[in-house]
Amino acid sequence: MDGPSGTGKSTVSRRLAAACGAAYLDTGAMYRAVTLAVLRAGLDEDSPAEDIVAVATAAPVEPTTDPEAPRIRLGGQDVAAEIRGAAVTKLVSAVSALAAVRTVLVERQRAIITEELSGIGGIVVEGRDIGSVVVPDAALKVYLTASEEIRAARRSRQDAKAGRVVDPTVTLADVRRRDRLDSTRATSPLHAAADALILDTDDLSVDAVLAELLRLVAERGLLT
Ligand code: C5P
Repeated sequence: MDGPSGTGKSTVSRRLAAACGAAYLDTGAMYRAVTLAVLRAGLDEDSPAEDIVAVATAAPVEPTTDPEAPRIRLGGQDVAAEIRGAAVTKLVSAVSALAAVRTVLVERQRAIITEELSGIGGIVVEGRDIGSVVVPDAALKVYLTASEEIRAARRSRQDAKAGRVVDPTVTLADVRRRDRLDSTRATSPLHAAADALILDTDDLSVDAVLAELLRLVAERGLLT
């Protein structure tokens, strides 16, 4: 499952995994957790790239794969809430644009996917480059889209629900900024894989998107 921020990717990916008895991996949380490690090391966007790469690639990030209770730890500490904060959100696209950071995280993601496929037997993976780079031979590739305004409104609702106070105009500006950075970076820019099914979620509820995904999963015989 790929697509920009605010398309409902996380919600539908988790629900799809739970409905199919599959594992779930949020690769965005991994990029966010290594970014938190970068911030904790006192670095920012003006720091030398090699210093950021050194901290990010060594960061002991451990995601869990239970769709009912996804967690992410950094050095053994649960950082699920902290990685959604403004400081990480501001820096994450710059950190994830670094090719050396992506190489290390993609390798870890593939190891988790291989382990889950041979264990529980299936996994829903969400991110920006899953169908195009991480798992080019995935059995089903879906790319979710939605207009900027709808995505920013969804982000604002999530922030409010989580108790984060963010001005909606700032959220819209952030959605635009991250879209630009994520789609124009040299390594693995955000784009739909040629064989991905593109779903526009502007006028679709979460239930409607989920129903369509379950239909596709069944159609491809992935629930055996
Ligand atoms: O999905 P989420 O919004 O949490 O992702 C945070 C950031 O991590 C994205 O804006 C993008 O810069 C980066 N990311 C990425 N590749 C992925 C997943 C996320 O570059 N597979």
